[in-house]
Amino acid sequence: MTVSTPLDLTHSWWDQVQGKGFVLPCCEACERFHFYPQPACPHCGHAHCHAVQASGHGEVYSFSVVYRAPSPAFAGDVPYAVVVVRTDEGPHLMSRLSVTDMTSIHIGMRVQVAWGLMSAHPHVPVFVPEETR
Ligand SMILES: [Zn+2]
Repeated sequence: MTVSTPLDLTHSWWDQVQGKGFVLPCCEACERFHFYPQPACPHCGHAHCHAVQASGHGEVYSFSVVYRAPSPAFAGDVPYAVVVVRTDEGPHLMSRLSVTDMTSIHIGMRVQVAWGLMSAHPHVPVFVPEETR
């Protein structure tokens, strides 16, 4: 699988997640989180946002299980789950959910970020079912 090349705007986010820190952009004016990194806050338009350590927890907002690889690059991955996660901080992001039983996935399922599950791209955050505390 290929991962797109980071833009100047997203370099700091990728740099931080490579250190396994799950961060989200946060506006210095309204203090609301958003995702993906943007040149200005999507809530208030303020130009200064900074990365803040996030919990890494959230819930499945939507998902789809892929059984047929969209290209030969994904043939070794199927079946896999593509999810939209609503983070506890608010922003939604698309990722993968790593589970062995695809039928266990459901809307509202608690999940947490994990690292190293995509062997070719260990710095890409994916999600796993939340550990019970
Ligand atoms: Zn703002």
